[in-house]
Amino acid sequence: MNRRKFIQYSAGTCLALSSLRYAFAAVEEQRMRTGYISDKIYLQHHLAPDHPESPQRLIAVEKAMLDSGLLPQLEHLPLLTGVESYLYTIHTRQHVASIRNNYPGIHPVALAVVGGVLSAVDAVCQGRLRNAFCATRPPGHHADNTGREEGFCFYNAIAIAARYAQQKYKLEKILIIDWDYHHGNATEAAFYSDPGVLYFSTHDYLAYPGTGNPERKGEGAGLGYNINVHLDCDTTDTDIIHAFENRLVPAAKKFKPDMVLISAGFDSRVDDLLGCFNITDAGFEELTRIAMSLADEFCDGRIVSVLEGGYNVEGNASAVVHHVKTLLSFRA
Ligand SMILES: [Zn+2]
Repeated sequence: MNRRKFIQYSAGTCLALSSLRYAFAAVEEQRMRTGYISDKIYLQHHLAPDHPESPQRLIAVEKAMLDSGLLPQLEHLPLLTGVESYLYTIHTRQHVASIRNNYPGIHPVALAVVGGVLSAVDAVCQGRLRNAFCATRPPGHHADNTGREEGFCFYNAIAIAARYAQQKYKLEKILIIDWDYHHGNATEAAFYSDPGVLYFSTHDYLAYPGTGNPERKGEGAGLGYNINVHLDCDTTDTDIIHAFENRLVPAAKKFKPDMVLISAGFDSRVDDLLGCFNITDAGFEELTRIAMSLADEFCDGRIVSVLEGGYNVEGNASAVVHHVKTLLSFRA
């Protein structure tokens, strides 16, 4: 190779390498993005006139997200369809048949929540996105297999998502963080003897549904993988952050999750209609950062967060914006 050919060859190689670098950077930038699930179907169902679990909750979330300027920064994900078979990883045939027959208007909406959450799991587990938030309703973490609505819940999307990630993506260990004011009794029940799912819940043990005793730590192979933390009325940011730092972080570091799911209930926020905690938007930002630090340390930042409760319409919307803003921006 003469000198001129060598220079041409080198320049070509450099160009190819630099294009490759740009391509990798673009893929990495895409992977670091946050997904967002929202859909008009989630506005369809009404439990009763003036019920606190109302479509207004999500209408306010949509408006606050729009006003915040965050929406264009998010990757809007389509809902996954044909997901009914996944209900049975958590729910009994009798439960699903009973919901379909007794709540014909709600069954498709609750099923669409599962479709939204599983779509978010796909995007994150396939490495297309870093994390995702699902602005969905009805909530799910009280949906036990009773054949009825339980605590405004029908299908436990977060529990179904955990099983889906394990089965489809062969992820062994799922951490579920639940900061809703209420204890996620159905999530606890689904994984109570399962060492593959670490369930961590902060809640008011004295409130609905009366479960969540801190003495309940799992059973059999699942002993130690269920952590219930009772918090009193008037719990502050400092109190709940203390619980996360002292109870969640050491357990999660020992567990080393392959994925983090969040039951993001904002009825633990100050001025909620049903809750009595005083957690502020800054508090939820910090809880989000703690979850993200764990996800960054153990599982490439993989988080899917799903709305649960939150009944002060404006307060819930504000907390969602702060939570999603943190999911978008925080780097551990
Ligand atoms: Zn709740």
